[in-house]
Amino acid sequence: MTNQRLISVVIPAYNEADNIPVIAASIREVFAGLPNYTFEIIFVADGCTDSTMAVLEMMAKHSDHIFHIEFSRNFGHQQAVKAGMDHARGAGVICMDGDMQHPPELIPELIQRWEEGHEVVYTIRNEDKRLPFKKRITSKLFYQVLNRMASVELDQGASDFRLLDRKVVDVFKEFHENEPFLRGLVKWIGFKQYAVSYDPAERFSGSSKYTFKKMVGLALQGVTSFSIKPLYNVVYLGFVFSGISVLYLPYVLYAFTFGHEVSGWASIIMTIAFFGGLQLIILGIIGIYLGKMFMQVKLRPNYIVRSTNIKS
Ligand code: UDP
Ligand code: MG
Repeated sequence: MTNQRLISVVIPAYNEADNIPVIAASIREVFAGLPNYTFEIIFVADGCTDSTMAVLEMMAKHSDHIFHIEFSRNFGHQQAVKAGMDHARGAGVICMDGDMQHPPELIPELIQRWEEGHEVVYTIRNEDKRLPFKKRITSKLFYQVLNRMASVELDQGASDFRLLDRKVVDVFKEFHENEPFLRGLVKWIGFKQYAVSYDPAERFSGSSKYTFKKMVGLALQGVTSFSIKPLYNVVYLGFVFSGISVLYLPYVLYAFTFGHEVSGWASIIMTIAFFGGLQLIILGIIGIYLGKMFMQVKLRPNYIVRSTNIKS
């Protein structure tokens, strides 16, 4: 058949040597049932320290569908996905995790919705009852904080499993953000969008690379790369506290006139500690934005490719 449309599947991989053959096999199986499409799988090895690269090179030798991009070091999940999209050649580009948590069986539905004319088909993960309570709570908190603080409405459980039309991928290629937050950007970018929900599977092998610390980092990065709302909120906070301190003024005058002014050591210390902390947080927020500008003005490449078998 000559009229097959090419679908690219981009998979970021950070030490996923055990998972890669499994996910490649199941993607191949899915496309065996889709005769109108052909596929390429682009694995982006994000500074792996295990045998991921050896596995990839071996697999590429035996298949025309397997491609790999190796980073010079770990640049993070978001940059890995971005690199895969930059190199993808398909009419549609699917991004998914390499640990089988994004079910490949969903691919036919993504493609079907895409063929119906939706340029962005993203997925929403149903809550996974098996996950530890802590992970579920942090994940919920993540979306709530993000929606409150950033000027973008992310669906609860929006995941990094999605299909983008060539048009959208080409727009993404023009993005040179130092710290892209793809989930937010995809929503922000517009076009005709469609949401598909799915039940996440368990990680096939290995453990999550997202620690609690990385989650907090991603949330902070998500908010600050999306809006300057926190800066405004900080100004409002300043107003509120100035207002409150004005209310305190009559008491100060009263205490002064009647000679009680030496009492109140505890309240002074508490106020100093509280405002000291508040000021540090506010300075930190301003610092994050400043840091982002600092990194961005350098115009460094966002990721560095050490090797690839993709010929451009
Ligand atoms: N990943 C990556 N670089 C990193 C961390 C993760 O490329 O620094 C990849 C990882 O190999 C996986 C995907 O990003 O394919 C999602 O990571 P993980 O499964 O650890 O996240 P979780 O499912 O726990 O959110
Ligand atoms: Mg995972």
